[in-house]
Amino acid sequence: MSLKINIDDQSGFCFGVVKAIEMAENHLSQGDEVWCLGQIVHNQQEVDRLFRLGMKQTSLGKLGEVTGGKVLIRAHGEPPSTYHECSALGLTVVDATCPLVLRLQKSVALAAEAMRPVGGQIVIFGKPNHPEVVGLAGQATGVDVFVVNATNAQAIDCRRPTRLFSQTTMDADEYHELIGAIKACCKASNNFDVEAAESVCAQVSRRRQGIQAFASSNDVVLFVTDPKSSNGKVLFDQCLSANPRTYFVTGPHDLNPVWFANAQTIGISGATSTPGWLIRQIAEAVRAVIQS
Ligand code: SF4
Repeated sequence: MSLKINIDDQSGFCFGVVKAIEMAENHLSQGDEVWCLGQIVHNQQEVDRLFRLGMKQTSLGKLGEVTGGKVLIRAHGEPPSTYHECSALGLTVVDATCPLVLRLQKSVALAAEAMRPVGGQIVIFGKPNHPEVVGLAGQATGVDVFVVNATNAQAIDCRRPTRLFSQTTMDADEYHELIGAIKACCKASNNFDVEAAESVCAQVSRRRQGIQAFASSNDVVLFVTDPKSSNGKVLFDQCLSANPRTYFVTGPHDLNPVWFANAQTIGISGATSTPGWLIRQIAEAVRAVIQS
C-alpha cells in the first residue's frame, strides 16, 4: 500500500520568532555571550539547538547573576521594568521583540494615558502569566489592567471607560465573541466609551483558517509542537476537531505505528513555534516506521 506524507506548508516559525532566532545566531557567531531572558521559543528542541551553539538562558529573578555578555529579549517582549533593571545592572540588551508586539505595547501605553484621567480600565484577552501579556500589562502604569479569558469576562465592571486588547496568539473568533459580550454589557450600562483593538496576529489567524482544511484532507494528522506552546495547543485542538485521528507529537520518539493503520495520507503540521527541521525529522521518522 502506498502511503503519502503531506507537510503543511504553513507550518513553522512566525516571522517574529525567525527574527529573534536570527538575532541570537548572529550575536553568537560574532563570539558574543548571549543570555536569553526566558525560553526564546516554546520548543525545547530548538532551545537545545541554540544552547549547543553557546546561548545561555536566564530569568528575571536571576539577572544579577549575568556577569557579562548581552541579554536577549525574545519576540514576546518585556515590560519597561525589565529594561530598567538591565540598565541598572549595566547589562546590554539585544531587543528581539517582534515589531507587531512592539506596536501593540505602544497602543496599550497610549490607551493607558487616555484611561488614567477618566478612571478607565484596560482589558487584555490572554493568559495571565504569559510573557507577552506581562509585557503588555507593564505598559499601563497607573491604570487597572484585567487579564480575562472567555469564562471570567463577566467580572469586568462595564460602567468604566474600557480599552480592549488581545494577546497576539489568541483565537480571533473567541476574542470577537468577548468584544461583543463586553460591548453589549457596556451599552446596557450606558457606557459608550469602549474601544477594542484588532490585535490577534494575522499570521496566527491565517494559520488557523487553513489548518482545519489541511487536517480534514489527510487520513491521519501528526501535530508537532511543545506542551508549553499556547499557539500549539490551539492549533492542535483545531486539527483534532477537523480530524479525530490527530496526534500530538513532540519528537520522533512519540510515533506509534498503530496510528497509521489503513491510512493512505499522513499530514504533518506544527505551531508557529515548531522548527522546520523538526517537522522534516518527523517526516523521515514516519517513512522509517511505515517501511519497517
Ligand atoms: S505570533 Fe505574530 S505577533 Fe507574535 S511573535 Fe509571531 S509574528 Fe509576532
